Formats: sequence, C-alpha cells, structure tokens
Amino acid sequence: MSSQQHPLSRRTVLGGLAAVGAVPLLTPVTAASAAGARAPLRSDARTKVVLLGTSGGPGWGATEPPRMGIASALVVGDRYYLIDTGEGVGFRLMDAKLGNWESRAALSDLRAIFLTHLHSDHISDLSNILSLGAYNGLVAADRPVPVWGPGNRGVLPPKTGTHPMPPITAPENPTPGTQEMVDLLVRAFATDFNDRSIDGGMPAPQDMFAGYDIPLPERLVDDPNGDPHPRMKPVVFYEDDRVKVSATLVQHAPVFPSFAFRFDTEDGSVVFSGDTGPSHNLVRMARGADVLVHEVIATEWAAQRYPEPRSAEDEAAYRHLIKSHTPVEEVGAIAEKAGVPTLVLNHFVPGSWPLEKWQAAQQGYSGRLIVGADLDEIEL
Ligand SMILES: [Zn+2]
Repeated sequence: MSSQQHPLSRRTVLGGLAAVGAVPLLTPVTAASAAGARAPLRSDARTKVVLLGTSGGPGWGATEPPRMGIASALVVGDRYYLIDTGEGVGFRLMDAKLGNWESRAALSDLRAIFLTHLHSDHISDLSNILSLGAYNGLVAADRPVPVWGPGNRGVLPPKTGTHPMPPITAPENPTPGTQEMVDLLVRAFATDFNDRSIDGGMPAPQDMFAGYDIPLPERLVDDPNGDPHPRMKPVVFYEDDRVKVSATLVQHAPVFPSFAFRFDTEDGSVVFSGDTGPSHNLVRMARGADVLVHEVIATEWAAQRYPEPRSAEDEAAYRHLIKSHTPVEEVGAIAEKAGVPTLVLNHFVPGSWPLEKWQAAQQGYSGRLIVGADLDEIEL
C-alpha cells in the first residue's frame, strides 16, 4: 500500500499516558493482546510456510503482537524461498532459525526470492539482503540466487486528485522493473561491493544474485492504465527440483504488474496473494491449493482515517485503500470460492488493529482461519 498506517498502537498510547502519570507504569498488557495474542504456531513439517513479517504499509509504528514488514518464507526441506522482503526480514530469518543461523549465515539455504510488486513496503530490505548477503550466508550454495519480480511498467500511472502534476523521479526511466532495479542497487552500492571484493576477497554481486522480470504475454501488459487486472491463466515462470512457481496478475491498481504466486511442491501447494483487492485471477489460481496466504485491510479503520466528507485527494486515497486491498469482511468468501481448506491472513492494514477484529474474516468461510502473526509456521 502507499499510504501511512496508523502511527499509534494502544501500547504506544498507554506508554505515553504512563509517562505523564495517567496510568501505572506496569501496565504493558494491551486490550489487543489480552484479547488473543498467542505464541507463534510451530510445525516440524518438511514443507511449511513461515510468516516472517505481517504488517502492511510503509509506516513505522508499534503493534501488538509485534509485526515486521511484509515477508514470508516457504521452506521445502533444507532449502527455502522468500516471498517479498519487507523491513526486518533479516532479523526475522534469524528469529525463525532459517539457514545456518547459528553461524550467522541465515541466507545459506535461500534458493530464490520472489517479489509480488515493487511497493517499498514489500522490497525495502532487498537492498539489505543483497548488500549484506555475503556476510550472512549468501555465498554458501546454489548461487547466484535469482530475484524474480515484476517487469518495467512502461508508462507512468494516471494522476489522481486535484494536486498539480509533481516532478517525475528519474524521468529517463521512471518505472524500472526487477531486473533493472537489482542492477541499479548494485550500482548504488558499487563502492562497497568493490571494496569488499578487492580488499576482502568477497564474491562479486553477479556471483551471488541476479534479477529477472517475470515474463507475461504481450496482450496483458500493453495497457497498464486501461486494464490493470486482465483475466489470465496463471503463468509458470520458475521451476527447480522442489517447487514449481506460477504467477497471476492481481488487482492492485495503479501498481502494475502486481502478482500473486502459487508454489506447487510434492507435499502440497500454497498461494500468496500479494497486495490485491478481490481478484478473479487469484481465485482461479488458488483452486486446489492447500493454503492461501491472503492480505487484508480493516475497512472500519480506512473509513475512520478518511472521514466523510472527503476532499478529492482523500477520496482517492480512501478508494485506493479499499479497492486495491481486500476488506476483512470479504476475504473469507474468496477462500471459500477457491475451495482452500486453510486461510492465513497477513499484510494487516493497519498492523496495530485489534486482533479480535480480524476474526471477521471467518464470515462466509467454512475452512480453518489463521490470523497470522510473525514467525507462525504453517505446514502445507
Ligand atoms: Zn502494495
């Protein structure tokens, strides 16, 4: 998402009140945690999803339970795959004890990275993985690690609201895709890469990772401002000895391309929605999957954040929130339609919303609902 999440959690509010003596200092338990915070789910299955970060949006703020930026791992035996790389992913890889974490090499078992879209809250720590990777296990095996994600949008999005057209950032190439972005990050960190390879003997970036654009048929990408969510069959774009990965376009306009991913393994299948409003393409791709990890937004919060009457700017921001994300009251019906037995919520907007309110996702859904928390492990 592109707007800020609410900066104040109840804990922050209570802490602030405590500081001025309004409540006793020793009252750290919030209403939200009292209403259902729990220990992370554990699984020793060979193939499992690990929720690394579950907060949606770029804003910083304390949440209960603590939520890092959006990122997930799919573990298949002694290898794992990353889906998005939001803020804090490195710390969470260590917390989840992935790779040779005890030897400070959490990236040793990383096989590939998949980016659903290029909003900053989904990719902000990609630069950390790439630039710090040599010291955290990225040099260990199966290299270079591919970084797969959306290609170049090709055209700027339409302007919304009544504000004047702003200056364009990098007008010579204002919408770089994943391959270009990885190359540009390498250039931005060239001083460090050169220093560490010349002076320290570390591998060159091209020996550790490489960026790739997910290929799409031409008819799907020729008009991102006309139809950003064209109907399509999922496209298989990656396969190795453990996973087959397919992508489909989802509804996150004006961001384009914006993907959901499906991973098929010999132990089962999982779909990650990425950021999306209700999506026919996603339902199609999720049919027959064992687990659906789906984003969600609290519509009540969005309405509170942009109260009526709204200015044109606020109306545009409000509509982006509720059309390009999935209301908590609607996500259950999506999982039901897809026939998926387990629905896992992530990318909570806002991350600070009371836990019990996310239970509204059970509406219209007869399967198992998991209101996701950082470090939850869910077997396929
Ligand atoms: Zn987004």
